[in-house]
Amino acid sequence: MSNLTPITVAHGDGIGPEIMEATLHILKEAGARLDIETIAIGEKVYLEGNSAGIAKSAWESLSRTKVFLKAPITTPQGGGFKSLNVTTRKMLGLYANVRPCVAYHPYVDTKHPGMNVVIVRENEEDVYGGIEHRQSNDITQCLKLISRSGSERIVRYAFEYARRNDRKKVTCFTKDNIMKITDGLFHKVFDEIAVEYPDLINEHWIVDIGAAKLADTPNAFDVVVMPNLYGDVLSDVAAQIAGSVGLAGSANIGMKYAMFEAIHGSAPRRAGQNLANPSGLLLGAVMMLVHINQEDVAERVHNAWLRTLEDGIHTYDIFAEGVSTQKVGTKEFAQAVVDRIGKLPEKFKPVVYKPRPRQNTEETVSAVAKPNKEMVGVDLFLDWTAGTPNELGKKMEQLSGDNLKLVMIGSRGTKVYPDGFPDTLTSDAWICRFMGQTDGAIVTHAQIISLLQRVTDAGFDFIKFESLCNFDGKAGFSLGQGQ
Ligand code: NAD
Repeated sequence: MSNLTPITVAHGDGIGPEIMEATLHILKEAGARLDIETIAIGEKVYLEGNSAGIAKSAWESLSRTKVFLKAPITTPQGGGFKSLNVTTRKMLGLYANVRPCVAYHPYVDTKHPGMNVVIVRENEEDVYGGIEHRQSNDITQCLKLISRSGSERIVRYAFEYARRNDRKKVTCFTKDNIMKITDGLFHKVFDEIAVEYPDLINEHWIVDIGAAKLADTPNAFDVVVMPNLYGDVLSDVAAQIAGSVGLAGSANIGMKYAMFEAIHGSAPRRAGQNLANPSGLLLGAVMMLVHINQEDVAERVHNAWLRTLEDGIHTYDIFAEGVSTQKVGTKEFAQAVVDRIGKLPEKFKPVVYKPRPRQNTEETVSAVAKPNKEMVGVDLFLDWTAGTPNELGKKMEQLSGDNLKLVMIGSRGTKVYPDGFPDTLTSDAWICRFMGQTDGAIVTHAQIISLLQRVTDAGFDFIKFESLCNFDGKAGFSLGQGQ
């Protein structure tokens, strides 16, 4: 059997082909044991009429190799082109985005010498399902979905990553003081899983103050795990303040597949001039080598790269008079790294990648006993502009009955009836909450259908309903502000 690991490589657009060539040259010279399949992605594929920017044959290669080293691509201007990154992430189930944000002071300008933070971002859920609706003339909505299984997967990934990479602490960011159910679940799962890792410090921050602290004192953090949207924003902030946007690589990891890339784009204005810095893609490739258990090669490459950086051999983007010793192009930089293979950095701490079994990303979701689910009410969403909250309240009271009673009306999440504050700003979409006559009484689907019928017969335009359920006696729905 061959000892080569099959991988799929895409050279991308803009500076992509140059930095990929440089990266592959370094990997080869460092003794990487790779069997490379090349696929086409990006601008050319888009313009050939493939709206996803990736051909069917490319998926065949990916399903064979399961490991993807990807150069940046150019998304053509204009509508109708789907983001290749989002497509790949979703098709391959790449639930974890891992982005080390490291300062290379004094060789690369940074506000935070010593910064070394890894952002682990949940990659599939949250508002990125893109489930959006316009409800009325005034109101639009985007659904935020957080699952227990998805949260468990990413949180466990973060703890495992921390342990394997000799990190000391895992921090969780959420906004669960506001989103008690969705972010609350993410936080709860974090606390549950943290118990299984007593060797690691764990802590939780509300994302606003956590983000401020991260931007101000990044050295207080080590591995930070968070839901998709916060992770999207803060991984860019972290890379930027480390000074390493042009140098950072990232890994997108799933149960079966993994994709490795630079965090920057295709820099079309720099393309074809032997100018681009291949470091971001190279560090993405180092993460790939660790993933495929070629830790020996990863270590050689990473240390040779650090040595090149501290020797002052820099591409134009990080070149600084007085710090750099030589301004080089893409090819010369790659050759300088190759020349240092086998050497260790003298100023930076050399990296060590211990050979370990591959991080298990499968079957990490624990079986939770199915809770007892009881429907106890319904939120009915109306598009209505014909009067005041009190007038709507009176009309809805009349539609109570059949053991369902109106308990409140909300507008944009704030209770406006009964006893609303007269100066609360309202809109044209309303949530009318009906519950059983007695506290906790079970409500049936038939009761909801007949309520919808009464509401329709009374001439109301309902947008949707959302059933209100208790799980093991605990409310699975939020209260309106002021309820
Ligand atoms: P960009 O990251 O390509 O460039 C931003 C700036 O950084 C530019 O000044 C560029 O010259 C510089 N830069 C980036 N990488 C560099 C490198 N390796 N060496 C030296 N300088 C570098 O971002 P952009 O200009 O906003 O986007 C350009 C294209 O890239 C767009 O089509 C965008 O859609 C695409 N893009 C692709 C990916 C991806 O494939 N993963 C990610 C981001 C952007």
